[in-house]
Amino acid sequence: MSAASHRFDAVVAGGGLAGLAAARRLATAGLSVALLEKRDRLGGSSAMSGGWFALSGTPVQRRAGVEDSDDVFLADMIDTGGGDADEELLRALVARQTHAIEAIDRADAWTDELKVSAGMTVARAHLIRIRDLLAQLEREAVAAGAVLLRGHPVDGLVTERGRVSGVRSADAVFAADAGVVLATGGFSRSRELLRLFVPDQAAAMQYGGVGNTGDGLRMAWMLGAGLADIGHVSGTYGQHADASDDEHELLTANYLGGILVNARGERFADESESYKVLGSAVLGQPGRIAFQIFDARVRAQSRPGVPLSDMDRIEELGHLHSAPTIRALAQDLGLPGGALERTIDRYNDAVVGRRTDPFGRTGLVNGVGALRPVDAGPYYAYPAVTAMTSTFGGLRVAPDASVRRVDGSAIEGLSAAGEVVGGFHGASYMTGTALTKALVFGVEAADAIARG
Ligand SMILES: Cc1cc2nc3c(=O)[nH]c(=O)nc-3n(C[C@H](O)[C@H](O)[C@H](O)COP(=O)(O)OP(=O)(O)OC[C@H]3O[C@@H](n4cnc5c(N)ncnc54)[C@H](O)[C@@H]3O)c2cc1C
Repeated sequence: MSAASHRFDAVVAGGGLAGLAAARRLATAGLSVALLEKRDRLGGSSAMSGGWFALSGTPVQRRAGVEDSDDVFLADMIDTGGGDADEELLRALVARQTHAIEAIDRADAWTDELKVSAGMTVARAHLIRIRDLLAQLEREAVAAGAVLLRGHPVDGLVTERGRVSGVRSADAVFAADAGVVLATGGFSRSRELLRLFVPDQAAAMQYGGVGNTGDGLRMAWMLGAGLADIGHVSGTYGQHADASDDEHELLTANYLGGILVNARGERFADESESYKVLGSAVLGQPGRIAFQIFDARVRAQSRPGVPLSDMDRIEELGHLHSAPTIRALAQDLGLPGGALERTIDRYNDAVVGRRTDPFGRTGLVNGVGALRPVDAGPYYAYPAVTAMTSTFGGLRVAPDASVRRVDGSAIEGLSAAGEVVGGFHGASYMTGTALTKALVFGVEAADAIARG
C-alpha cells in the first residue's frame, strides 16, 4: 500500500497467535479489519514455540485419567506466580479457556501428548500442533475478509482527543474506528529493554520471534500505559548455545530424573523447579552453562517430536554427549576429575534417603513424581544455557484486554493481547500459559471491540 490513509473498523498490530486470533474473531463478527505484521511472514514466537498449552478439564485429560479442575489450575497459577500475578486476569483466563479449546477443535490440532510441566501439580500441558492452529486461524481470518499485510511494521499509534484511533506504518495511516489491538509479542530480541528492566537477565541467549523487540510495549508506554510483572522476566533454561532460529533445542531431562551440574561438576539448584527459576540460577553459574546429566533410564523416556523431551533429535544434532561411565562422561565434558562422581554419589544417597538433599529436591517436576538414582549406564550429558524465549511481563490490562494507564484508567481505543501483556504470571511461569493467554485474550480483545 502506498502513502495513504486506510480506514478499517479495527487494526491488529502483530501476526502471531494473539494477533491472528483477534483478526479472525473481529472479521467473523462482521468488522472490517487489517492485521499489520512487521516481518515478511506471520507466526512470530508462536510458530517457533513448543506448542504446549495449559488447559484444564479437557477430553485429553479425561481420556488419560487425569483429574484436574479449573480451581486447581487457578490455584497452581497463583502459587507459581508467588502471589504476584493479577488474580482477576487468572480467573478470566481459566473461565474463558473455551476460546482456546474451540479454536484447537476447529483446527483439529490436538495430540494425545499430555504432561506435568513447570508450575503444575497435575498433567495439564497439552501438546497442540501449533502450526496447524496458526494456519487455520489465518485461513479463517482471510475467509471472513480480514486483510493481512506482511512487511508492515506499526511504528506509532494515532490518537484523537485522547482516544487511540489508528496506527502509523511507514508513511501510511490505518484508521481504526472501533479499536486497535496490540499483539506485537514481547521484547526477547531487545537487548536494550532487557538491560533496562532485568539487567541480570541480559546475558541470556536472545531467542523468540525475530521481530519481538518490544515495539507495542513502547507505543503504549508513550500513552501512559502501566506495566505488570516486568521485573520478573527471566530466561528459560535448557537450550543448546548453537540452536538456530528455525529449530529450538529445549530439553528438560531434569524433569524426567536427570540432575543439573555446573562447570565445576556441582549441583546448584532443585532441578524440579520451573525452568525460568533454573534459567536465573544458571546465569549465575561459571560460564553461564549447566549440564543436564542423566542415565539410560531417563534416555529411554525420549519422545521423538515432543518438545522438551526429544533427546533423539538432540543426539541427531550432535549435541548429546554419552559415555559408559560417569568418569568418562566427566572427562569428555572437561569437568574437574572426580567432582561429577562425588556429586552423583551424594545425589543418589539423597534419593534413597541416606542423606538430605541440600537443595530440597523431593520430586521430578514441581515436587511431583518419584525420584530415582542416576545409576544405570550409559550416561548422558546435554550442555545447555538460558535462552530468553519469551518475556512474560508487559502492559497492564483489564480482563477485557483493554490497556490500563499507570493510574488504572483505560486508554480508550487500545487493547492488547499475548506476550506484550503482563499480569498473568507474577514471579514465575507455568508451561503453556503463554500460548493459552495469547489465544484466549486475542479473542477476548476482539469481542470487547466488537461489543463497542
Ligand atoms: C522456542 C520457544 C518455545 C516456546 N514454547 C512455548 C510453549 O510450549 N508454550 C507456551 O505457552 N509458550 C511457549 N513459548 C512462548 C510463546 O510462544 C509466546 O509467548 C507466544 O507465542 C506469544 O504469542 P504472541 O501472539 O503474543 O506473539 P508472537 O507470536 O511473537 O507474535 C508477535 C508478532 O508481532 C510482530 N511484531 C512485532 N512488532 C511489530 C510491529 N511494530 N508491527 C507489526 N508487527 C510487529 C512480530 O514480528 C510477531 O510476528 C515459547 C517461545 C519460544 C521462543
